[in-house]
Amino acid sequence: MRFLFALLLVTFPLVSAIFAQSAAPTPGLNALPEVEFSRLSQRDPSPLGQKALAIHPEQWKHGETEHFIYHFVDSFVVTPLSVEAEFHYRVVAKELQREPPAGDTKSHIYIFQTIPDWKQFQGAAQLEPWTGGIHSQGSLFIQRSPGYTSGGNLLGHEIAHLILHRYYPDGIPCWLNEGFAQYVSKGARASYMRARNYNARPQSRAVEEEKLIPLAELMAMTSPPNDRVATFYDESERLVRFLAASDKTSFLSFLDALGRHQPFETALFQNYGNKFLTSAALEEKFRDYASQEFGTSVQQAAAR
Ligand SMILES: [Zn+2]
Repeated sequence: MRFLFALLLVTFPLVSAIFAQSAAPTPGLNALPEVEFSRLSQRDPSPLGQKALAIHPEQWKHGETEHFIYHFVDSFVVTPLSVEAEFHYRVVAKELQREPPAGDTKSHIYIFQTIPDWKQFQGAAQLEPWTGGIHSQGSLFIQRSPGYTSGGNLLGHEIAHLILHRYYPDGIPCWLNEGFAQYVSKGARASYMRARNYNARPQSRAVEEEKLIPLAELMAMTSPPNDRVATFYDESERLVRFLAASDKTSFLSFLDALGRHQPFETALFQNYGNKFLTSAALEEKFRDYASQEFGTSVQQAAAR
């Protein structure tokens, strides 16, 4: 017994070192290099950034890649996230078919590792309690526990917002911002998985026809409606997918027009006038498209 205990004492550091290595395969070559805060290439003007770093200030480490600056606790949590962030950056820039605006501004990403820290931040930032991630003035705040296995498209969705913010710093309509973030991140997620030999395709979700929000109402929303959050995201994603599939070039200049705060009707007529003469004509075709496959096996397979 005593021998066993002694053996444990001797082997435990070794075993735990091996375990730490397998759970954290990054302390070596591929880990995101740590950079002193004072040596980061840029500062974050967002007041929420200061609030984040004030929570257990001693815990934060920092690092950066080509387009992002990270504030994190453990390198094995931030490293895979930094790879995914740059991947999504490339996908979104490609989807928008143009170089990002001039300037080398990097977006800041804050990664909270514990739920209590995240809750404290939500309180300080006055966020809705269900918020899983928040982007504010070009910065992103998320919670990731060690051992988190990436599921879904949350990071890609938030990265898409960060990049849209760089192209359209004055904002775009809420449905378009959320719909585009869902659309592009679902596609990115599928190709990210395929690149790792998973059989994946974008998981666009149809909306039950009776639940569809009329387009005029959808256009006027400045935040997702609390009582119809899922419908809002699914319908916005379907609308972006529908417009992008109808004509990609038109979609990009339509996006630019709404980024310049033109009314929806004007932007639609100028860019899709040859396809939909009025928004009523668009609505009719879109309702079919949005509810297509709802409740069928194709839809259920896509929802998995
Ligand atoms: Zn969003």
